[in-house]
Amino acid sequence: MTESAVAVFDRLYRAGVPERPVVLFDRACVVGGSIAGLLAARVLADHAREVVIVERDQTEPAAQPRTGVPQDRHGHVLLPGGLSQIERWLPGIAAEAEALGGYLAGPDQQVVYHDGREQALASGEAAMLLGTRPFLEARIRSRVLALPNVSTVSGQATGLAYDVGVSGVRCGDELVSAAFVVDAMGRASKLSAWLEKDGYERPRMRRVQTGINYVTALFERAESSWEQEIACVLERFTAQSMPFELTVAHLSVIEDDQWLVMLMAYGDHPAAKSIESFRSTCAELPPVFAKAAGGAVTRGIQTYHQADSRRRDFTGLSRFPARLVAMGDAVASFNPIYGQGLSSAAFHAACLSEYLVGEPDLEVPAAGFFALQEVVVDAAWAISAGGDAARQDLITGAEVPEDVRRQRWAMSQIIKATLVDKTVAAAFAAVTRMQAHPATLRTPEMLERALAANQR
Ligand SMILES: Cc1cc2nc3c(=O)[nH]c(=O)nc-3n(C[C@H](O)[C@H](O)[C@H](O)COP(=O)(O)OP(=O)(O)OC[C@H]3O[C@@H](n4cnc5c(N)ncnc54)[C@H](O)[C@@H]3O)c2cc1C
Repeated sequence: MTESAVAVFDRLYRAGVPERPVVLFDRACVVGGSIAGLLAARVLADHAREVVIVERDQTEPAAQPRTGVPQDRHGHVLLPGGLSQIERWLPGIAAEAEALGGYLAGPDQQVVYHDGREQALASGEAAMLLGTRPFLEARIRSRVLALPNVSTVSGQATGLAYDVGVSGVRCGDELVSAAFVVDAMGRASKLSAWLEKDGYERPRMRRVQTGINYVTALFERAESSWEQEIACVLERFTAQSMPFELTVAHLSVIEDDQWLVMLMAYGDHPAAKSIESFRSTCAELPPVFAKAAGGAVTRGIQTYHQADSRRRDFTGLSRFPARLVAMGDAVASFNPIYGQGLSSAAFHAACLSEYLVGEPDLEVPAAGFFALQEVVVDAAWAISAGGDAARQDLITGAEVPEDVRRQRWAMSQIIKATLVDKTVAAAFAAVTRMQAHPATLRTPEMLERALAANQR
C-alpha cells in the first residue's frame, strides 16, 4: 500500500539524525550558502568526507544584510516545524540564538488575529524563534561551518560538469569536482538553464501570481510590562476587510531590544510612503502595532516586491543527471506571508537525509529524493498557493470547479472556527506552523466540529 502524504510528512517531521551514517562520497558540493545550502551541507557532512559550499556573497561580517538575499531586510519567523528540524541537525541552536539576543516565543506570547478578532489560543510544542533574517542565518552558518569537513569557496557558480552523473560545479574557469551536487541557489536558480544547455530536460515551472509588497521598519523596544507579555503578533485580513488592501500585519521581538513591524499588501499601500504613514496604518490595527511603532526608529522603511509564488517540478523528468538534487527556494518559493520558506528548507534537509541513509543507487537520478520532497512542497504549496489562487478567483470572478469550491468553503469554515474552538485552532496551527500536513484538516470530523463551533 502506498504511504499517505500525511504519514510521510509526519515521519520526516519526527525523524532523528542518522545513527551510523555511511560515507558515500569523497566530496559533495552545495551551490548557495544560505539556509537551504547550509542545512544541505549539514546533512551531507555525515555522508561525505568533505563538503564544499560555493557562495557568491561575502558572508562576513556576520548577521548583516547581503545582496544575494534581498528579502533579508524583512521579518523572518522560524516556525515551530522548521525550528524542531533545525534543532535536530544543530542541537542547542535555539538556546544559543536566545543567548545572543534572539527570542524564543512560547505559545502564550504569540497572538493571531483574523480581521481584528483574536484567534482561540492553541498550545502545544509551538515555540518560534524570532530575530532578523541575517541574525538567524548567521547562527546556522556558524554552526555548520564549525563542522570539521565543511568549507566554503567564494565565487559564482556558472554551470555543471558531468561524468556518469554530475561530477562537479564550474565557477568560471575553476572546477570544484564533486560526487554529489545540491542546487540551493534560491528562487532565481540558474539550474534549469544549465540543464537545458547541457541537453537535459528542464523542470516545469509553475507560477501563481501574488504581486505582494512588503514594508518593514524597526523600532526600539522598551522595558514596559506589555512588551514582556507579547513577542509575536500576526493579523490577517480577508480580501474585503481593509479599504487599502492591507493583508497581513506582523510584529515580532528581535535582537538588540527592537521590534520588527512588517505590513504587507497586494498592490500599493500608503504605509510605504513615510514613517508617518507607516505609523498611521499601524494606528488602524490592534493597539499593539501602534505601541510598537511608537518607539524610536532604529531602521527606517524597507520595501520588497514579489510578483509570484513559483515551483519547479523535478519529479517525472525523463532526462535528468544522477548525483544532483535541488533544495529550498530553488525548488519552491512561496508567498512569504505564510512564513514557510525556512521551514521548508529544513524539511528538504530531512528528505536528503532519508534518501542518503537509504544508500541509493547513485548511478541513476535521485527520483527517491524528489518524490519525498514533493510531499513537503505540496503541503506548503496547498496552503500558500491555494490561498492566493482563491483570492485571484474572488477578484476576477472566475468560474471555480465544484470540488475546489467545496474545499475552499470547508477551509473558510475551519478558519472561522479557529476563533472559537481550541481543538480546531490547534489543528489549524499545527498545519500553519508546519508540524502537520494540511490533509489533517480535510477530514469529515474536523469539518463537522468546525460547523458545530460556528453555529454556537
Ligand atoms: C519578504 C519575505 C519574507 C519572508 N519571510 C519568511 C518568514 O517569516 N519565514 C520563513 O520561513 N521564510 C520567509 N521567507 C522565505 C525565505 O526568505 C526563503 O524561503 C529562504 O531564504 C530560502 O532559502 P534558500 O537557501 O533556498 O535561498 P536564498 O536564501 O534565496 O539563498 C540563495 C543563496 O544562493 C546564492 N547564490 C545564488 N546563485 C548563486 C550562484 N550562481 N553561485 C553561488 N551562489 C549563488 C545566493 O547568494 C544566496 O546566498 C520570506 C521571503 C520573503 C521574500
